[in-house]
Amino acid sequence: MSTLALAFDLGGTELRGALIGRGGEVVARVSEPTMTEAGSEVVIGRIIALADKLLDDHPQAKVIGIGACAPGPLDPKAGIVIGPPTLSGWHNVPMIDILSRQFGLPVRLENDANAAALGEWRFGAGRGAGSLVFVTVSTGIGGGVIADGHIYHGRRGLAAEIGHMTITGEGDRCFCGNVGCFEAVASGTALGRRATRLTSPGDGSVLRRLSNDGDVSARHVIEAARTGDAAARDLVEAEAKWLGIGFTNLLHLYSPEVIVMGGGLANGFDLLAPGIRATIEERAMQAYRDVPIVPAELGDRAGLVGAASLILWEGEPGTALSMVQDQETGDGAGGAAGARAG
Ligand SMILES: [Zn+2]
Repeated sequence: MSTLALAFDLGGTELRGALIGRGGEVVARVSEPTMTEAGSEVVIGRIIALADKLLDDHPQAKVIGIGACAPGPLDPKAGIVIGPPTLSGWHNVPMIDILSRQFGLPVRLENDANAAALGEWRFGAGRGAGSLVFVTVSTGIGGGVIADGHIYHGRRGLAAEIGHMTITGEGDRCFCGNVGCFEAVASGTALGRRATRLTSPGDGSVLRRLSNDGDVSARHVIEAARTGDAAARDLVEAEAKWLGIGFTNLLHLYSPEVIVMGGGLANGFDLLAPGIRATIEERAMQAYRDVPIVPAELGDRAGLVGAASLILWEGEPGTALSMVQDQETGDGAGGAAGARAG
């Protein structure tokens, strides 16, 4: 059997594990609820149990390492999950230390959005591009940047917090505390909230019928727009405009060869794309207007595949060479100390 990596995608609601091959193929896959409220030690115990199960079920697998991704903020170099809002009780958990000690294998850790960007770039919608911006639009907005063949990390691996760039001075408050974040106006949550405010229970609208007179979600809006409902079409148009404004900023900042849009709202990509394009035509400077905006291809396995590639493609273009663990001297230790102090 060819060489494989164990991959883990630690989400706020679901914990996924897989055995992944060098071509991005998923050889085996397992998942279970994360149950974050049980605390980090219990969750890590479950990761270890899932890894044992995958290894037991595939005794002939030649596993050369573990690639893991988790929500940010995390420090990929120090291997520390710093304290994501979606993982309650996680504070400066040294994931790489724990897993490498347990399995005696090299372990790499990456922010989940960066891992998904890497997955789409190596094996999905961004194959062959030198630079790429991946944007995931669902409950929130996240993203990752591949710049000249490498994940762009910035200080402490915190770069490309796309959802929290300010794109307007007003509107609903973001969970981060600011007003006007990209996420606060353009996420699936924001779209659902606009649809809910526009309608009311029992008004007989298509949106409220789809939601059974409960709160309207982004999924309902897309569904209603597909039936030609005028209110839903207007909501989609407004949503596409916000996305187009955000994407225009990303074009100007990173000059990618392609923008890949993933997340739940990518299910409505065909409906959103004309409005996104029109906004980019209107707002981007001439030289940036011809960049393709495409839907993601890997769905919910993008993070797993990207995390595995940190192991399987180590040292080849696309892996962040500066992140190699055996270089964990002054810089890495400083990052860890900084994380603890923070
Ligand atoms: Zn924010």
